[in-house]
Amino acid sequence: MRTPVIAANWKMYKTIAEAEEFAREFMPLVKDTPGVVKVVAPPFTAIRALSEAFKGTDIRVAAQNIYYETKGAYTGEVSPEMVKEAGASCVIVGHSERRQYFHETDETVNKKIKAGLYVGLGIIFCIGESLEERQAGRTFDILKRQVAEGLRGIIEEDLAKVVIAYEPIWAIGTGLTATPEQAEEAHSYIRAELKEMYGPQAAADMRILYGGSVKPDNIDTLMARPDVDGALVGGASLEAQNFAKIVKFKRG
Ligand code: PEP
Repeated sequence: MRTPVIAANWKMYKTIAEAEEFAREFMPLVKDTPGVVKVVAPPFTAIRALSEAFKGTDIRVAAQNIYYETKGAYTGEVSPEMVKEAGASCVIVGHSERRQYFHETDETVNKKIKAGLYVGLGIIFCIGESLEERQAGRTFDILKRQVAEGLRGIIEEDLAKVVIAYEPIWAIGTGLTATPEQAEEAHSYIRAELKEMYGPQAAADMRILYGGSVKPDNIDTLMARPDVDGALVGGASLEAQNFAKIVKFKRG
């Protein structure tokens, strides 16, 4: 049985005070949801405060990014150990906005996954095709490459700390959601690739989240699909009531 994961990606939204306000509202709303792993990824500046606010609950805090070196002259970067010390237990790696605006490649994504795993962080590893790639019939090729390159050199034992988020770029922040059929098709393809790479057990155990305009009114049909194990939520995670409704999705 794969325990579902519902994760919030706040992107560059919320000050420390706003994050604390969210926590106050959100915690009572999800206090009876033990069967769902709940993760919130605030900006770096709010990791500490949010992890303090969530202390004693089962809500985890994630970083939205890390650098792959442990320390050094890398102005503006933050190391895996630093986000861990601040209270993050996991990190989002390879989000399409990082690939698109900050020139992250499969190679840097792979280095970041390894660096995060090295200090014991869980990884939410994002992959997904653009609209042009989908229209050109290249979706599976792109996913195959991103999975193979992103996980290059990662052993099966470490794979248990990795969750994959399939986020078609054309569905992120656009209001366009992949249909449950499109999500299932991509997720089952990814699982088949993992089976090739790591064998049936590791593939069966991997949580594959869907991301792209997930909202309270589409989460149930997405979660009803056998290979959809959770969601990575941007816009709809910024408001506590909305995000709590997603956490409390109806099981089919
Ligand atoms: C995201 O940022 O990962 C995301 C899926 O955003 P949204 O839910 O706003 O499409």
